Amino acid sequence: MNSSQSNIKKAKKYLDKKHCIGVPTETVYGLAGNAYSDISVKKIFKLKKRPMNNPLIVHYLNINKLEEDCYINDNFIKLYKKFCPGPITFILKLKRKSKISKFITNKKKTIAVRFPKHLLFRKLLKNLDYPLAAPSANISTRLSAVKASDVLEEFGLSIKYILDGGKCKIGIESTIINIINKPTILRLGGLDISKIEKVLNEKILVKTNSKIKIAPGQFPLHYSPGIPLRMNIKKPKKNEAYLLIKQRNIFLKNYYYLSRKKNLKQVAKNLYSLLRKVKNKGYKMIAVEKIPNLGIGKTINDRLRRASKY
Ligand code: AMP
Ligand code: MG
Repeated sequence: MNSSQSNIKKAKKYLDKKHCIGVPTETVYGLAGNAYSDISVKKIFKLKKRPMNNPLIVHYLNINKLEEDCYINDNFIKLYKKFCPGPITFILKLKRKSKISKFITNKKKTIAVRFPKHLLFRKLLKNLDYPLAAPSANISTRLSAVKASDVLEEFGLSIKYILDGGKCKIGIESTIINIINKPTILRLGGLDISKIEKVLNEKILVKTNSKIKIAPGQFPLHYSPGIPLRMNIKKPKKNEAYLLIKQRNIFLKNYYYLSRKKNLKQVAKNLYSLLRKVKNKGYKMIAVEKIPNLGIGKTINDRLRRASKY
């Protein structure tokens, strides 16, 4: 990890010139651009081949900067105090006077915001006078990037700079919660719903099957390694890469470990990089052992289910 001030300066220089760059977060790498600039934001959509009706998450350093652009409420403050910076994204009401590019929100009156925890990203934000729009640094529908080299694999020379912050600690995207009215989870993610429920002291609705048509015939495929994937597999086929969460006594060439001790946090951290690895090794099919549907296991299963729609 190279956190030198000169790298932050370089990153800032590219962003100020309205370019997009790769940035590390604790969840997955982001493809970042100035959230106040239409030019920068349009570049993000183009690079990712992302449909313009799929809104972006905006990243802030702290609540002070956020209040220039949106309204907050009591539930927001409770969750902010407990979990931020961290892997939680809030849907809030946009202020009229906000400078946020209209392309970010697909002209909606709501906005998705997050406070990333990675130190490099925070250092970068401290040096900027605008927040950063930063969706995951991957081509739309494909696997998210969890290392700088993954970002390079996705975008090659079409982006100018990647801030290398090592491998992402959580390895899976943020939990998205709409807290404008009744709190509702829109995407399972790195933060357990049960933890959120404890803080808000209420049962929270989960509505993760968005009706937005991201692209005709494409939705809900997402997080895909680009080859068929099967879940809950006890016996893999010979030519399948088999992803396991617990050490086996036999050694087979096509066995790969997400964890050796059934540690679900570790499984989440290794998920995208191992899927990427076996795809790059030339496997044409992937089988995954059953993952317990508990805590972050629910998020992992959500991602695998979407990846298996290939
Ligand atoms: P990502 O691809 O990680 O940047 O996540 C972006 C996701 O956040 C979108 O696909 C939406 O599901 C959600 N999102 C962003 N902005 C909004 C918004 N204004 N209202 C509802 N959901 C949003
Ligand atoms: Mg994404």
